[in-house]
Amino acid sequence: MELRELKTVVEKKSTIKRILLVDDSPIIHKLLRRTLEAHGYEVCGDAKNGREAVSMYQSLKPDLVFMDITMPVMDGLEASGEILKMDPQARIIMLSAMGDEQIVNRAKELGIDNFLKKPFNDYKIISAISGIV
Ligand SMILES: [Mg+2]
Repeated sequence: MELRELKTVVEKKSTIKRILLVDDSPIIHKLLRRTLEAHGYEVCGDAKNGREAVSMYQSLKPDLVFMDITMPVMDGLEASGEILKMDPQARIIMLSAMGDEQIVNRAKELGIDNFLKKPFNDYKIISAISGIV
């Protein structure tokens, strides 16, 4: 198969379009949204804590979630656990920072293998998505 054809197949298989952003920092929302929209993705919701994330996941049924770890009200690990209980097929990318190693290990126990390390850039954001398609 030619590369061009292969790319079409990959694009057809990719079902990721609508993305839910979860972070307590408005700057992170803005940054992720700008990059994702520039690459053809739709940000279908912005949640600022884990509890909002769980209820927005239920109502919006996004194809993918970018999930911060440290947030007030409910953290990203607990929220991811709730979401995966509702939808074991949920696709979640955890936003991790320096010093989150223990939390990253707990996320892996939940079955989350996708991480995006802060600070982000466009390349890291898009390759995090391509890794799970
Ligand atoms: Mg945070």
